Amino acid sequence: MTVRVRFAPSPTGMFHVGGARSALQNWIYAKQQGGVFVLRIEDTDAARNKPEWTEGILSALDWIGISRGSYEGPHFQSENAGEHRAAAARLYESGRAYYCDCTREDVQARTGSQYQGYDGYHRDRGLGPGPGHALRFRTPDDGTTVVVDLIRGEPTFENKLIEDFVIARGDGSPVFLLANVVDDMTMGITHVIRAEEHLPNTPKQQLLWDALGVKPPIWAHVPVVVNEKRQKLSKRRDKVALEAYREEGYLPGAMRNYLMLLGWAPSGDREIVPWSVIEEEFRLEEVNPSPAFFDEKKLRAFNGDYIRALPVAEFVDACQPWLTGTGTIAPPPWQPEEFDADAFAAVAPLAQTRITVLSEIVPNVDFLFLASPLIDEAAWAKTMKDGSAELLDDAVAAFEALESWDAESLKSTLEAVGAERGLKLGKTQAPVRVAVTGRTVGLPLFESLEVLGRERTLTRMRAARLRLV
Ligand code: GLU
Repeated sequence: MTVRVRFAPSPTGMFHVGGARSALQNWIYAKQQGGVFVLRIEDTDAARNKPEWTEGILSALDWIGISRGSYEGPHFQSENAGEHRAAAARLYESGRAYYCDCTREDVQARTGSQYQGYDGYHRDRGLGPGPGHALRFRTPDDGTTVVVDLIRGEPTFENKLIEDFVIARGDGSPVFLLANVVDDMTMGITHVIRAEEHLPNTPKQQLLWDALGVKPPIWAHVPVVVNEKRQKLSKRRDKVALEAYREEGYLPGAMRNYLMLLGWAPSGDREIVPWSVIEEEFRLEEVNPSPAFFDEKKLRAFNGDYIRALPVAEFVDACQPWLTGTGTIAPPPWQPEEFDADAFAAVAPLAQTRITVLSEIVPNVDFLFLASPLIDEAAWAKTMKDGSAELLDDAVAAFEALESWDAESLKSTLEAVGAERGLKLGKTQAPVRVAVTGRTVGLPLFESLEVLGRERTLTRMRAARLRLV
């Protein structure tokens, strides 16, 4: 039997990090089993679907390493609508489903409780199809439904506690629960690996598989992803869109490594490991069923490690979108013609050890590409104290006299200027840094001045001096 798994997102919003995690787990499982990964876009909720969300899913998958053309699909649920209706009709004809025209109020009036499920009123009343008649599945009166779940063992559900649930609405359209089963069936899915949120649907869906006479798949419900307060990640409260992480400058390698650690770990106390190791060592059966904490701080630290591990040339390339504002990434504060690739390449190794997400490259190097630095006024006020004007005067004079404009000479020269006033280098360089870069923190100062060049450095120092008059 060839293993066939599917990832079945609904195109109703930004692509969720939890979705990316499930997609990766499906992807690896298929690969390990010599199976097939199918992408199915569940687009039957016409009111909430938008074509751009589908495009967002494809490009997010691509970014995370599940590239277009390397899987089966995308298939679209809407294309299978005929099969969904045919399955509903089969269930009705075989007596496994029946029509019902009760409103919620009718049921409440009979059961006396708004919390009680449907009471089976129409089970044996022989109502036929018609406008407003919903089709309900006749659940077994007794026995249990045992779900075989690779992560959770064998969750067992009492059939008598499962109400006769709706499988097609009053307008004849099949509901998600049925469409999802029929699609899995027609696509020959053998393993359904999906988020824990769907577990309550699973006994109902398995009953549908049985009623339609097809052997149900093996299930694996992967743990819910939660924030630091143990709340399920929500798009209204938490940063959940993969796109947001991408725009902030997370590397796809770091992201997918981190996502795979939600509920699982590679051997030997390691966390940061090559993707090939994860593909080899990951075991779906070993995934911890408890909620998995999505720790953004940890992810960020991971990303810093991944950035530092890049060959410099790759780091330079990876920064390009933030330096030139391509795609969905916001343009930098300088004009395109002000960007100087050589100057950037010269400071890139210094920046690479300091940033944790690629977007941080911009405030670190903006001083190189702007006609005049963006002055952080709070930093200015904190740094430019009594004596700063004179210190800048002396530093300008000393720098003007330099024969060689290199980091070494700049450092020893400024050190000497400070020493005359009994100042340590740190104190001496602070006003120079603010004058030249506009900030109190940044790349090593003297290397920065070397790359910025004599003329621009001196112009900025003189301009700062004038502001201090
Ligand atoms: N379309 C469903 C979702 O996005 C997936 C259901 C499933 O994986 O079975 O939650």
